[in-house]
Amino acid sequence: MNPLTERLAAICGAEYVSDKLVDRICHTRDCGPTPGGIPAVIARPRTTEQVSAIVAAANEFKTPIFIWGRSSTFIGHGIREGCILMGLDLMNAVEKMDFDSQIVTVQTGAIWHAVDVELNKRGWELAVPGSGGMFVCTVGGSVAYNSVPHGLAEYGMTGDNVVALEVVLPSGEVIYTGSAANRAAAGLAFERNANGPDLAGLFIGSCGVYGIITRVTYRIRQKPETERFAFYSFDSLDAAVDAAQALQRRRVPTHLVQVYAGQKPLGVEGEAFLHIVIRDGKAAAEERLAAAHSICSAFNGLRLDEKATERYWVHHMYSWLRNTPPEVYYSDRPYTCPEATAFIPTQRVKDAMRYLKEYEAEHAEEFARHGIRIKAYDVYYSRNAAFIWIDTLFPELDAEAWRYGVKMRADYSEYLWSRYGSPGGILAPLAEHIMPKLGGGYDLMKALKQTLDPNGILNPGILGLNDGNGNGRNVHEQ
Ligand SMILES: Cc1cc2nc3c(=O)[nH]c(=O)nc-3n(C[C@H](O)[C@H](O)[C@H](O)COP(=O)(O)OP(=O)(O)OC[C@H]3O[C@@H](n4cnc5c(N)ncnc54)[C@H](O)[C@@H]3O)c2cc1C
Repeated sequence: MNPLTERLAAICGAEYVSDKLVDRICHTRDCGPTPGGIPAVIARPRTTEQVSAIVAAANEFKTPIFIWGRSSTFIGHGIREGCILMGLDLMNAVEKMDFDSQIVTVQTGAIWHAVDVELNKRGWELAVPGSGGMFVCTVGGSVAYNSVPHGLAEYGMTGDNVVALEVVLPSGEVIYTGSAANRAAAGLAFERNANGPDLAGLFIGSCGVYGIITRVTYRIRQKPETERFAFYSFDSLDAAVDAAQALQRRRVPTHLVQVYAGQKPLGVEGEAFLHIVIRDGKAAAEERLAAAHSICSAFNGLRLDEKATERYWVHHMYSWLRNTPPEVYYSDRPYTCPEATAFIPTQRVKDAMRYLKEYEAEHAEEFARHGIRIKAYDVYYSRNAAFIWIDTLFPELDAEAWRYGVKMRADYSEYLWSRYGSPGGILAPLAEHIMPKLGGGYDLMKALKQTLDPNGILNPGILGLNDGNGNGRNVHEQ
């Protein structure tokens, strides 16, 4: 055993540390197409104290840490060759359900859906149901990434519903945010906007560059009385976007998804489709549903069978968006998804979708040659804007198609980000390209990184924050 592995084994217990090649190779990438480096060792702590001790060891050995929730993102991890990979899957306890303060406190590695199931047994639920990856992704990883959850149109982003965090800083020190920061209150986490600036906000969406989230206190609510659904097709994209905006203005939907391009719902005509989910008390839901029908009709929407929307919502499966079986996309060979995404103003959805169609037409020959498939250009509407999700799939095992897919992702991202778009999760391989567009904001992020993490210990391959000395680079890009 080398001295680093030995130290980690002393902290976590030998059975929770591995430097076997097979384990290391299995921890080199997320769900996206870009692999990272191979870590030197995997360590799986079970307590905050162990996390803190690992961070202290990493500083001493000058070896960076990569934080691994369940690695279900598509951002291309930027795992540094030879790093310590800290797997947080064992820190998965649901510690406290507090129905008086309407919060739940969990260890960071708890899986969204597993937490929701515990709450559901008591008639409660998490303030957001989680992202499409809810069955695999961790609460801490989703907060660190600020994932785009179901129910975005009413409930907001994952980070909006955080009440308090416990975080291990790059120095190894443990801090608490919001009301929990006041230790005289015995760490009572019931209010985020307390004790000065919103420190939780610093860690939300920062993908672990400023600290390791070890505990999350999250909002919960009583399950609403009912869920109602509507599904509409529109002859034109513009009409669908205008209808979506009218629905946003009236605060009608809990969840509003537009489907455009790719496989159409079976047996259905139209250019663009809206799935509308409403969750509320019975009378209020009825009123909101009536408003949905009247708005969609005013934009010449054609009412379709809402069972497709209900199936999608209940099963949380992307194929249900279209009411088509998943085999259409995945039956013959493994496909991967470049996941180019961006927030854009609602009306800009029209230009962005046209650009994607033009891109498809201009590159028809390459698409055919590389077997590229368009699963969809989906739009998840928030309260006042839109989140675009470009699912253009390419065959994963074909090296040329892979290279083409990664270039396609860069083209899409360049188009969106150089005009009006802002990425949700920042793709590690594209960070160097996007972050400098942020100007002074980026300078501040770098200064904070330098101050909090002078040794570049935590996730140095992410957000391009350590690029000044070439350290932020993913090994495959150097
Ligand atoms: C089928 C499927 C559907 C999906 N649908 C969606 C969707 O609808 N919306 C969406 O936004 N995403 C979606 N995703 C992507 C992904 O599931 C989510 O973004 C999820 O939130 C990531 O959680 P994770 O635990 O896997 O995090 P990871 O991928 O492990 O980590 C995410 C980032 O945060 C860092 N990190 C992880 N844990 C911590 C921690 N405790 N403290 C500090 N930093 C940490 C990691 O280093 C990494 O940079 C989907 C994924 C799948 C597989």
